[in-house]
Amino acid sequence: MAKYVYDFTEGNKDLKDLLGGKGANLAEMTNLGLPVPPGFTITTEACRHYLAEGAVPRGLEEEIAQHLSALEARMGRKLGQSDDPLLVSVRSGAKFSMPGMMDTVLNIGLNDESVHGLAKQAGGNERFAWDSYRRLVQMFGKTVLDIDGDRFEEALESVKGARQDTDLSAEELQRLVETFKGIVREETGADFPADPREQMRLAIKAVFESWNSGRAVLYRRQERIPADLGTAVNVCSMVFGNVGDDSGTGVAFTRDPGSGRQGIYGDYLQNAQGEDVVAGIRNTVPLQDLEHIDKDSYDNLLSIMKTLENHYRDLCDIEFTVERGKLWMLQTRVGKRTAAAAFRIATQLVDQGLISMDEAVQRVTGDQLAQLMFPRFAQDTGNKLLTKGMNASPGAAVGKAVFSSPRAVELAAKGEDVILVRRETTPDDLSGMIAAQGVLTSRGGKTSHAAVVARGMGKVCVCGAEELEVSISGKKFTAPGGVEVVEGDVISIDGSTGEVFLGEVPVADSVVVEYFEGAEPEDELVRAVDRIMRHADSKRRLGVRANADNPEDSARARRFGAQGIGLCRTEHMFLGERRQLVEDLVLASDKEERQAALDALAPLQKSDFIGIFQAMEGLPVTVRLIDPPLHEFLPDLVDLSVKVALGNASDKDKRLLDAVRRLHEQNPMLGLRGVRLGLVIPGLFAMQVRAIAEAAREVPGAQPEIMIPLVGAVQELEAVREEALGILAEVGVEALIGTMIEVPRAALTAGQIAEAAQFFSFGTNDLTQMTWGFSRDDVEAAFFSRYLELGIFGVSPFETLDRDGVGRLVRIAAEEGRRTRPDLKLGICGEHGGDPDSVHFCHEVGLDYVSCSPFRIPVARLEAGRAALAGHDSDTR
Ligand code: PEP
Ligand code: MG
Repeated sequence: MAKYVYDFTEGNKDLKDLLGGKGANLAEMTNLGLPVPPGFTITTEACRHYLAEGAVPRGLEEEIAQHLSALEARMGRKLGQSDDPLLVSVRSGAKFSMPGMMDTVLNIGLNDESVHGLAKQAGGNERFAWDSYRRLVQMFGKTVLDIDGDRFEEALESVKGARQDTDLSAEELQRLVETFKGIVREETGADFPADPREQMRLAIKAVFESWNSGRAVLYRRQERIPADLGTAVNVCSMVFGNVGDDSGTGVAFTRDPGSGRQGIYGDYLQNAQGEDVVAGIRNTVPLQDLEHIDKDSYDNLLSIMKTLENHYRDLCDIEFTVERGKLWMLQTRVGKRTAAAAFRIATQLVDQGLISMDEAVQRVTGDQLAQLMFPRFAQDTGNKLLTKGMNASPGAAVGKAVFSSPRAVELAAKGEDVILVRRETTPDDLSGMIAAQGVLTSRGGKTSHAAVVARGMGKVCVCGAEELEVSISGKKFTAPGGVEVVEGDVISIDGSTGEVFLGEVPVADSVVVEYFEGAEPEDELVRAVDRIMRHADSKRRLGVRANADNPEDSARARRFGAQGIGLCRTEHMFLGERRQLVEDLVLASDKEERQAALDALAPLQKSDFIGIFQAMEGLPVTVRLIDPPLHEFLPDLVDLSVKVALGNASDKDKRLLDAVRRLHEQNPMLGLRGVRLGLVIPGLFAMQVRAIAEAAREVPGAQPEIMIPLVGAVQELEAVREEALGILAEVGVEALIGTMIEVPRAALTAGQIAEAAQFFSFGTNDLTQMTWGFSRDDVEAAFFSRYLELGIFGVSPFETLDRDGVGRLVRIAAEEGRRTRPDLKLGICGEHGGDPDSVHFCHEVGLDYVSCSPFRIPVARLEAGRAALAGHDSDTR
């Protein structure tokens, strides 16, 4: 038969799934011989059963009764016994900590008789007994009976006035109990339950139910805690911090969770019970003061903190109570900490000999490292929050709002900081994005142009801020509440949270970025990061490359630790002034005109590649042949039509209009792109391959790899490869030739495609788009928030690789590709290459490298190390 109840002496810290974090750790402390008030834990399994069936599992009531009898025997008093009552607390405790999200009821077992017994137990302390009783009715009323807590608070306030709660007399508290019981009667139509066992039974059920309270559901969604775990319930004999001034309650950390520094951190509140410390009803004193209040308890606490830290080998947080000079431990757990503290603590513990470097690497996450790399806004500056969009590219940026790229460039040239505000960006905005400190758009998701390009540049970006009404012609936007921001007004955008503020919010630079840029690790935090990064590098199997398409980004990527370029997008090289030449190419009416356009582009391309090969100094560089959705390169249909209609268009404009009409596509992302374009415009790929080969010949040691985009059939690849091999042989340069796998058909026919490819690089942006049928540019803003709300996925599949669907295609392609060609090199270059969970997936499926934007390289290095150390059972939480 299933066992649903465990005495504290039966569990241990590894049973969190079953006993919840609190229960498992209470058991662990009990077994360590620490002073834990006796009690027992009802399992999460019982809760899950209750939530599924609407009734407690068979046998649970009897099991609880048996454990309660054992507890009563041990304590020498019975629950709620009128002359000498045992009181218990009923507390929630899930596997993952959800602070304050679920219910707790203290002092169960009190009623009109046992309150006198409790006073007697406390040496005739009536005040204490009535205070405990009013707390029970209040907490029970609020959490178990679902009565608005304000009703009790208001009643308490009206008696208390300006006094502290400790100033209330026994008589006043007694009257308050009556008032509270009246509220219960009024609100529920029934009396407050006097039967102690009934109180306990109802409280346990209420804790089960609190798993699905609105705030708990919301918290779980935000913290990505699975919805089906359920909570355990801890029934614990009461100890009292509210007996008098020789009692109290407090919280403590074994070291500072903010900075990681060692020391004594915590708060203490005299003559108080449980929730009072967190609720902030009276001012707490620093934990150090306990030394003067009660030296024995203080010394005892310090020694227990040391025991706990050595035992858990990590920072612990603690809740404790002192009852008339005796210290009791009510809770401990491995404590939450800031990103900086996580790195510091991990290395400190290594130095103390408590953990190994392998473990230290496991104690930090890529997300924490990313947090340390981005400049952040100072907190609570009082600036007005205008709106919240999507946190597309992290960091903090401040500048004057501008509404066009030329204006951004103009003001930046004068040394002004600007934020480029657009409805959405297009490749034409590149100059403006480079000039700006940050980019704000009102449309588009995390893989919109603005987001991808900004992340690539390490530029702050908030996208899809749909509440903003952006008027480009009016050079202004309107935020909710009618606040207008016009060109030149200063705004601050936080790409880590998506927040947009009015005015200048002060920014603090990142010392960790300075370190990655080459500064000596002087600061304690940076030294910790340095040690952990070195160790992660020494353990990882995955290579880490960069997505970069110019010498500056390439050089930065190398400083950040890139071992090559995994994706050089050549279409970015055809913008700006060169656009003219692309238009000539599209308009070419015969072979000669086309060749002339290509001949003009060739030397420019060659010099692009020379710059990148030089920056990479012999490391491999994967150059992807051009893959533009064509509409991005041609003038806007409407603009051009207007120009022609107004009669002020040149001959070329008219021809362009014809071409734009002819080439217009309903679904450009599924249209004439990638290899298709290469096969339709003769000479285009050949020009690029020749430029790559000639550039490689001029840069000693250059290691080019030529990558064909959007291939779906081996025949497409063969056609391009044939021509490329000819050109390479002519120029006398060797290069690998491979393909992107970004069309589902390519993944499904990978065995055939590998016949013609020396490497695969998974383009998981397009692969996600085409596997789900989600338009990359539209869906995130359009309906992802609804999908997240409905739990269809916990995180956008454009951000974290969808293991079941897209991941399955990656697996198939990797396996079948390698079956054909055992030395097939495998990488990934979609946005997922820098996402922690996706990096673990790439490790698991046996890819050779991940490639991501330069700023995410350190994160990818760290997570690749963590994945290697975790084996296949990885956890990036
Ligand atoms: C991809 O599709 O994942 C990819 C890397 O190519 P792009 O984002 O340029 O389409
Ligand atoms: Mg692609």
